[in-house]
Amino acid sequence: MSFSRILGQDRPKHILKKTLRNGCIPHAYLFYGQESVGKKLAAVELAKALNCEVSGPVDGCDGCPSCRKIDERTHPDFFLLEPEKSSPSARDAILKIDAIRELQKKLIYLPYEGQTKVAIIDSAECMNPQAANSFLKTLEEPPSKTIIILIASNPYQLLPTLVSRCQSIRFYPLAVETIKKIITKQLESETGDAQPELLELRAQRSMGQVARAMEEDLLKTSEYRGDLIGLIEQVSFKRMDLAFQWIRTYGRKTDRLQSILDELLNLVHDAAVLKTNRNPRAIQNKDLTHLLEKVANQKSLAALLDMFDAVHRTKVALKYNANAQLSLENMFLNFCEAA
Ligand SMILES: [Zn+2]
Repeated sequence: MSFSRILGQDRPKHILKKTLRNGCIPHAYLFYGQESVGKKLAAVELAKALNCEVSGPVDGCDGCPSCRKIDERTHPDFFLLEPEKSSPSARDAILKIDAIRELQKKLIYLPYEGQTKVAIIDSAECMNPQAANSFLKTLEEPPSKTIIILIASNPYQLLPTLVSRCQSIRFYPLAVETIKKIITKQLESETGDAQPELLELRAQRSMGQVARAMEEDLLKTSEYRGDLIGLIEQVSFKRMDLAFQWIRTYGRKTDRLQSILDELLNLVHDAAVLKTNRNPRAIQNKDLTHLLEKVANQKSLAALLDMFDAVHRTKVALKYNANAQLSLENMFLNFCEAA
C-alpha cells in the first residue's frame, strides 16, 4: 500500500486517506512544514492514489503502470515543478514565470491517460512575484480534473491570496525513532553499512529532518561543536579575545550563521538539561557528553538560560538583517554577564 511508504506523519496521512475515501478532494492543497519531513513524498503518493489502476482512488499499489510512471516521473498527467538556479553560482533557486506558464498550458487539457492531473510545485515560496501572481489565476479558476499541490517550508513567504485558496496540511518534524528507521534503510541500501551508535546520533541531531540526518559530516561537526563548547566555557570579560577571534572566523559566513547559532543553541540546551536532571539520554549531542558535563558543572542554570536567550535573540536579529558583527559581539557580552 502506497501511503504506508510514508513513515511518520500520521495526521497528514489520516486526513488525505479520509478525503480520498470520501471523494471530496479539494482543487488545491498546501503541504507545509520543515524541510525534508515527507511533504513531497506525500504529494507523490497522493498523485499515485488518484490515478492508481488497481487500488485508486483510495491508495496507490506501487505496481500498476500508472503508479510506476509517476514514480519514474514519466506519467503524462503528473507534473513536478522545482525551483532552479539561474546559473551554477547563483545563491538562490527560483521558480520563474516561464516555468509556471508552461505548466499552466499543460493543465488546460483533460487528463491524457489517467483520471486526474496532478501538479506539484515544490518550494512554492521560491516563485518570484510575477510567477506567483500568474499562478494565482490558475488557483482562482482551477482546471477540471486537476489537483494542485503547493509545497512550502516557509509558507509565510507565500502570497496570502495563494494560501487562502488551498487546503493547508501541516507536516511535523519526524520523531527520532522514525528518522532512525528511514536513514537505516537509506544507508544500508547506499553503503551497506549502518552503524547503530552513529545512527542514533544522526537521528538525535537531525531536528526531525531526514536530509539533515543523512548529510551531516559527524566528524567535522564534532570538532566544530567542541570549539563552540570551549566558547561557552571560557568567554568572560577577561577573555573577550576568544569571542573576537571566533567572530572574525565565523561572523562573515552570513549564509551559515543561522545554522551555526542553531548548534550553539543546542549545546547550551544540552548543558542545561545535564544541569537539571543529569540524564545524558535526553541530550542531542551525546557524543560530546563529557565536554557538556564540564560546562554543566561550571555554570549555573540561570547563566545557561541567559545564554540560551542571548543566542535566540541574536538569531532573530540576524533574520531581520541586523549587523552580524555587532549582534555577535552583543551576544558574547551577554555570555560574559551570565558567566
Ligand atoms: Zn497502482
